[in-house]
Amino acid sequence: MAKTKGVKRTYSFGSGRAEGNKDMKELLGGKGAGLAEMSRIGIPVPPGFTITTEVCTEFNRSGRKLPRDLRGQIAAALAQVEKETGKKFGDAANPLLVSVRSGARASMPGMMDTVLNLGLDDVTVKGLAERSGNERFAWDSYRRFVAMFGDVVLGMKPERKEDRDPFDVVLERKKHERGVKLDSELPVSDLQALVAEFKAEIKVRKGADFPDDPMQQLLMAIDAVFRSWENDRAIAYRRMNGIPSGWGTAVSVQAMVFGNMGEDSGTGVAFTRDPATGANTFYGEFLVNAQGEDVVAGTRTPQKIARLGERFPEMAKQLGEVRHRLESHYRDMQDIEFTFERRHLYVLQTRTGKRTGLAAVRIAVDMASEKLITPEEAVLRVEPLALNQLLRPIFGDAQWKKAVSGGKFLARGLPAGPGAASGRIVFFASDAEEWKGRGETVVLVRHETSPEDIRGMDAAVGFLTAFGGMTSHAALVARQMGKVAVVGCDALTFDYEARTMTVATPSGARALHEGDWISVDGSTGEVVEGKVETTPSEVIQVLIEKSREPRDAPVYQQFARLLGWADGFRRLQVRANADQPDQADVSVAFGAQGIGLCRTEHMFFGAGKIEPMREMIVAENEAERRSALAKLLPLQRDDFAGLFRAMGSRPVTVRTIDPPLHEFLPQGEAGIADLAAATGKSVERIRARIEELHESNPMLGHRGCRLGITYPEITEMQARAILEAAILVRAEGIKVDPEIMIPLVGTRKELEDQASVVRETARRVFAEKKRKIGFKVGTMIEVPRGALTAGEIAKTAEFFSFGTNDLTQTTFGLSRDDMGPVLASYVEKDIYEVDPFVTIDREGVGRLMKIAIQEGRATKPALKLGICGEHGGDPESVEFCDALGLDYVSCSPYRLPIARLAAAQAVLKQRISERARAKKAAPKKAAKKKAARR
Ligand code: PEP
Ligand code: MG
Repeated sequence: MAKTKGVKRTYSFGSGRAEGNKDMKELLGGKGAGLAEMSRIGIPVPPGFTITTEVCTEFNRSGRKLPRDLRGQIAAALAQVEKETGKKFGDAANPLLVSVRSGARASMPGMMDTVLNLGLDDVTVKGLAERSGNERFAWDSYRRFVAMFGDVVLGMKPERKEDRDPFDVVLERKKHERGVKLDSELPVSDLQALVAEFKAEIKVRKGADFPDDPMQQLLMAIDAVFRSWENDRAIAYRRMNGIPSGWGTAVSVQAMVFGNMGEDSGTGVAFTRDPATGANTFYGEFLVNAQGEDVVAGTRTPQKIARLGERFPEMAKQLGEVRHRLESHYRDMQDIEFTFERRHLYVLQTRTGKRTGLAAVRIAVDMASEKLITPEEAVLRVEPLALNQLLRPIFGDAQWKKAVSGGKFLARGLPAGPGAASGRIVFFASDAEEWKGRGETVVLVRHETSPEDIRGMDAAVGFLTAFGGMTSHAALVARQMGKVAVVGCDALTFDYEARTMTVATPSGARALHEGDWISVDGSTGEVVEGKVETTPSEVIQVLIEKSREPRDAPVYQQFARLLGWADGFRRLQVRANADQPDQADVSVAFGAQGIGLCRTEHMFFGAGKIEPMREMIVAENEAERRSALAKLLPLQRDDFAGLFRAMGSRPVTVRTIDPPLHEFLPQGEAGIADLAAATGKSVERIRARIEELHESNPMLGHRGCRLGITYPEITEMQARAILEAAILVRAEGIKVDPEIMIPLVGTRKELEDQASVVRETARRVFAEKKRKIGFKVGTMIEVPRGALTAGEIAKTAEFFSFGTNDLTQTTFGLSRDDMGPVLASYVEKDIYEVDPFVTIDREGVGRLMKIAIQEGRATKPALKLGICGEHGGDPESVEFCDALGLDYVSCSPYRLPIARLAAAQAVLKQRISERARAKKAAPKKAAKKKAARR
């Protein structure tokens, strides 16, 4: 074991033992913890050691200097590796070579740097040649190492997309001189010459010699890997995935094993289950006579793992055992990297495998059925937002067939990221960002993608690459981001400069240009030219369209099973924001337990309604207004009746009119003329009225309850429509449960004013109809004063619903409609960690909510509480609402499954932290008891 003096900075592993374990990800990074754990459980792992993430943090704090005592600890850990391998670092006869790899707490695939074959120099290369009996392999490793060291450690990697790697240029020149195409066609003498030429290139560009002391190489490489934590793409990735910069990366230094030692060696990556579909099949790829980076980089298209047994039956058997061992040990799908050197198998990495939303659901449900995990764990395993992927459209059979039979079929690649994407072709990641910024839908089409492309990939709806397998960069990123992807489509050739590509189609070559439309099917791997319409997913077909039977829909069945478990765990109810009967149907199909917000103003845009609405707005006195409202009454009543019928006995919260009135007025001359004709007023008078309605800050103006207070007859008409509809539908045998909600209330008197209009209207309607219906009157809490005086408001309100869209807007003093340009810089500069209109700002808006809840419930303990702002469908905000003790969250219909899952996870996470607290407290309690007994 490594000697420890002062702070322990290195943790050794290998040969069935390790100083670390799987629970030490914070200190050893995911990779380091995985290597340690695999060593412990007897998986064959080449020996090595991990330098902790604390060293990285110290390195960054101390102006990028490695701690002084690190060198001694490295030497001690290295001695241990030498002992286990029987090789010596820097030895002329039997040299130990190592890899130096990054590994943060959370996986950041390809974002940071790696150096392989470290320890080679002009002396050790000869020892390696001798020992391996393969001179070519030794010199090939050496020239790769010099180039990698130059790129990664000495900073010679090109930064701009137009630049080429300097070592590639030298290599290409050499191949050109020799008239060969492949690296492997170069003789050993050329590889030797390449090493010298690479070193000369380093000298010219960096003014320094290539270091030939292995220890110096190692320290420089460790320094470079720590630095790579702060490179642009790592920073961008962290930002996208919410990884704090303070975590730092660990560095694992490990004895090299060689998959490129000949035809009996190889390397590969595999997933213990299919990461695209979740099927319980071993899934992966391998390459014979290659190094690990070749598989991930996608520069050679690998073979399927199922074929490993054909040439290497023993390897396939051992790997199959590793698969089962790792999966049952980790109780989750694992993503592993392996290498076999002269038929000796080594596993170089294991980590929880990234998967599509589709696979996440299937794996969670299957593993719970296999009793490998509990239903609680299954529910916690699926990212709520990943459910979106199960609702995403697919290409319609008929449309796709039409495109294919119409000669639009281009090619087929590997289906790496399921779903359907149609977009315009861009060839560069930076263009994808730019085009998206202009509002275009783009598909990023490239020979291959690399970590530098990450932002552009985020901007594209899908990717198409010519090279690489199912574990290439594009494929991994697609699964992680939930993008559509087809990779390894080798029919494509590119002319990046001309911004065109040629596709070798079954009917001959076809040229496509930047900006042309293309459609990719990430579930089958097929690509067609042009735009193809999409069709709803299986879940939608079953639940919404009812065009497919559940028994014929396996994806739906898994989805339903998972959500069934989730429903059993959650405390929060879920409601929908829906205004129309068809939306209500969708909501019920997705599990809504009520409507939390019906925005009545949306109803006014329906056919035949906007005209009387406009008449009402331009009315110049109460009589005119009442006459227009009388035309609206039956229309609104029908709408509400439809909504009540669709929702059955579930509660339906209907909000009285909210937006500024001018939003309903016509803009153009023709519209104004029509309105003049309909009302019998002159065009000038209509114009004057529109002018009068103009407001400087309409969102802070004549809107919300202020409309009903100035024009009580509007509230009166709406209350009448709601209650008459309720009586009508009740007579049909449906137990309606209406809740009438007043928006934008900041003082109790505002609510009292409107509540009394509603109650007086109810009294009249019930008397006229000789029938009574139970109903509630409540308010939205969406301005700070409403939250701060909630104790008073609750004296009148029977329920509160937090309108966090407006509450965020008014708390921040930031217009929800004009915040676009502000937000980008604020997030970029870390002033806002996330968009507060997406995730509730717990400290500010959340604090107001807490005050309102405490004071509201102090006045009225049974006060019903909900949220109907957009945050009601955001998983993090749902978790917060659960902690606040709300009764329900309400969100748009398509986000209901997300809210259901997030609400269940909130409860389960709470249980886990309570258990952990109890466990922590238990020894203290026991100690106290013991002390008391004494
Ligand atoms: C809100 O403000 O959160 C809300 C739901 O109301 P609207 O978005 O209609 O203003
Ligand atoms: Mg609002």
